[in-house]
Amino acid sequence: MAPKNEKVVFLKLEKLRETIEQYNFAYYVLDDPVASDSEYDRLMRQLEALEEKYPNFSVLNSPSQRVGVRPIREFKEVRHGLPMLSLENALSKTELANWLDRRVKRPLKAVEVAGTDIDFAAEPKLDGAAVSVRYEKGLLVLGCTRGDGNIGEDITHNIRTIRAVPLRLKGRHPPSVLEVRGEVFMPKANFMEYNAQALEKDEKLFVNPRNAAAGSLRQLDPRLTAQRPLDIFFYGIGDVSGWNTPDSHSELLKKLRDFGLKTCHDSKIVKGLQGCLDYYSSISKKRDDLPYEIDGVVYKVDSLRIQSELGLSRRHPNWAVAHKFPPQEEITIVKSIEFQVGRTGALTPVARLHPVFVGGVTVSNATLHNVDELKRIDIRVGDSVIISRAGDVIPKIVKVLRERRPKNASIVDAPRSCPICSSDTIRAEGETVVRCGGGLICLAQLKER
Ligand SMILES: [Zn+2]
Repeated sequence: MAPKNEKVVFLKLEKLRETIEQYNFAYYVLDDPVASDSEYDRLMRQLEALEEKYPNFSVLNSPSQRVGVRPIREFKEVRHGLPMLSLENALSKTELANWLDRRVKRPLKAVEVAGTDIDFAAEPKLDGAAVSVRYEKGLLVLGCTRGDGNIGEDITHNIRTIRAVPLRLKGRHPPSVLEVRGEVFMPKANFMEYNAQALEKDEKLFVNPRNAAAGSLRQLDPRLTAQRPLDIFFYGIGDVSGWNTPDSHSELLKKLRDFGLKTCHDSKIVKGLQGCLDYYSSISKKRDDLPYEIDGVVYKVDSLRIQSELGLSRRHPNWAVAHKFPPQEEITIVKSIEFQVGRTGALTPVARLHPVFVGGVTVSNATLHNVDELKRIDIRVGDSVIISRAGDVIPKIVKVLRERRPKNASIVDAPRSCPICSSDTIRAEGETVVRCGGGLICLAQLKER
């Protein structure tokens, strides 16, 4: 091949790679496609054909190489340049106010003008898997899990399959090293669709989107991960060199976006405790409509200078806190199982529970649908159970904790006689419903009619 021709091929390959990555960026990061699927496929086929023909021009950071061809043998350990610390939690308004006093206001009094409300960068707290992605001279070289905060696992082969993660940073002068931290997640809609398909194929279902994201990243075979609809939001940095770090967290997020790194649209700058609380309540209201699962919000002191003054404690940064939503699952104890009589005479078992605060309300009852359900989930008086309540959904028992069952836990059978009118109960052949046989002499049936 003549050198002149070689140069033409090289330029053509570079152009193709750039265009495809631009299409990826528009589709997966901006959520605003600029090309049709068929156009995208056509360019990708051209690229693959050329790379096959000229293997010496093939590079790892080509969009054609996102999905590796073979599984890795095992996960290698990676020591983080800067530890990936977890955040301190605040579970209530009072805890948040205390955190603000203890970690921010008091330490700052000596060095800062007290009394001014501090700016916080507030953002939803995604329920996914934390990762760190390292770029050197603008090229993706490493992706790893958080692990224990100091040592994670090398999951580069899987990170590369996520289309929203750029293989190379945008812009002419990328930092010599830029480690970015973010959360990999499976959007709610994709999670439901994935589970629906898995159900059809009789495959294992994911328990929740967090489980789906974490499980997908811990695959040895990147071809499996590539089939999982994963997305990412970046929210911070680790090791950095050859870059003028901006003055504030909000400015930092803007710079990350300029590099083509996806950040959450729902983040906002708020002022002081009241600003944080307002943000919390506005995100709580939007929670069910957000396309991704969250379990709270995060507030970070916006000024990076103040962040470094506040510093880190052993396990947490002192300048950030996670304000968590009330738990949507709790454990409680079944005090008794009673039967309610409906207007058709049907007896519905109801578990009376030791009251428990879950999903923002106190729950003391959970319906068990019908008599067969008692046997199916094998629930007994005295059992410990997991109660779940999401959004406005009525609370339900998701699991009986058999390992916690006391010796004297008692089985409850459907009663022989109606708890309201004492008439005999009837269970028709092949039916799951037990009914009161009293008809209109039964007050429960009469009342409801
Ligand atoms: Zn009755």
